[in-house]
Amino acid sequence: MKVGVPREIKNNEFRVAITPAGVHELSRHGHDVFVERGAGLGSAIPDEEFTAAGAKILDGADEVWAEGDLILKVKEPIAPEFHRMRRGQTLFTYLHLAASRECTDALLSSGITAIAYETVQLPSGSLPLLAPMSEVAGRLAPQVGAYNLMAFNGGRGVLPGGVPGVAPGKVVIIGGGVSGLNAAQIAVGMGFDVTILDVNVDRLRHIDAIYQGRLKTLVSNAYTIEQEARAADLVVGAVLIPGAKAPTLISNELVSRMKAGSVLVDIAIDQGGCFEDSRPTTHADPTYKVHESVFYCVANMPGSVPNTSTYALTNVTLPYAVAIADKGWKNALYDDPALTLGLNTHDGRLTYDHVAEAHGLPY
Ligand code: NAD
Repeated sequence: MKVGVPREIKNNEFRVAITPAGVHELSRHGHDVFVERGAGLGSAIPDEEFTAAGAKILDGADEVWAEGDLILKVKEPIAPEFHRMRRGQTLFTYLHLAASRECTDALLSSGITAIAYETVQLPSGSLPLLAPMSEVAGRLAPQVGAYNLMAFNGGRGVLPGGVPGVAPGKVVIIGGGVSGLNAAQIAVGMGFDVTILDVNVDRLRHIDAIYQGRLKTLVSNAYTIEQEARAADLVVGAVLIPGAKAPTLISNELVSRMKAGSVLVDIAIDQGGCFEDSRPTTHADPTYKVHESVFYCVANMPGSVPNTSTYALTNVTLPYAVAIADKGWKNALYDDPALTLGLNTHDGRLTYDHVAEAHGLPY
């Protein structure tokens, strides 16, 4: 099969949908891989590395889309890309169609077969193509938190690990799922005093068993959140209720009683955020003040580390891409129920119920 990998053109998107290892693997399976010139530069992967792995570099996006029977991308197509999609072609990428009627309409009118990373779901209910980005965001949270705790950034001027004779900073992580556990791992490594809250006691048992007393676990409820938030230097919001808006767990009034210069990092901002005052920010202007606290609410945290994020994402997407290229999309889906759940559009029809419901379209 011919596999096309265009350069991402969405604002501030520096990831790319394939690495040299991916090119090598697809080539080994007998497929031709066409990569747009410069597609990997944002992730510090030069064209020469793709060529050495067996890719053919094409000058423009039009050529890549024209060549590819299977198009691998990171983000949903945006307006300048719409005219390149065609019936009979398969697109494998993040789509988040419930959030974009414009993209949904473009996919439907093109007739393309679109498989969304974010709806590929294992029988356990987990989302294997979203998990690596939660890992990245979770591991970044203590890092951006520590940076913003520095006095010149408006923070309390607290060093995460303290020094001998001086207490470490206190971080409270609300939500002990994929991102929360990864945040905890880095926070422990930085020497923070770490507390992690979750509503799921089994999850807390698991975390407690791993950390053997190196962090504290608490059941999440309004009372413990208030106690912990008031004592915290850094709060990380890492909750998720699948398919729903994030619950509001820290009110404006509670922020007014938190320590001056405390920092709140809301990883859950892409689901509306779990602090009352959270609103999405960008890497260009990531923080703002609420009372005396600093809020960081970047909706695409992995975008700040595109090299790591590209490798993390393609590690998990590649096996699916190889299956689609080897067998064709129909047989690949037939053989793998997880991938079947990824199918969002085909031949002008919506094939994913939540997207149809979100837009009031037939399914
Ligand atoms: P997850 O499902 O692995 O974990 C969520 C955890 O929250 C679960 O353990 C759940 O029990 C817990 N939870 C639910 N309600 C709670 C409450 N009231 N109090 C405490 N805990 C509660 O989810 P995840 O993969 O860690 O993702 C978390 C959020 O981060 C999602 O909204 C995800 O989309 C988002 N995310 C954001 C970025 C970013 O760049 N900002 C990147 C990746 C993921």
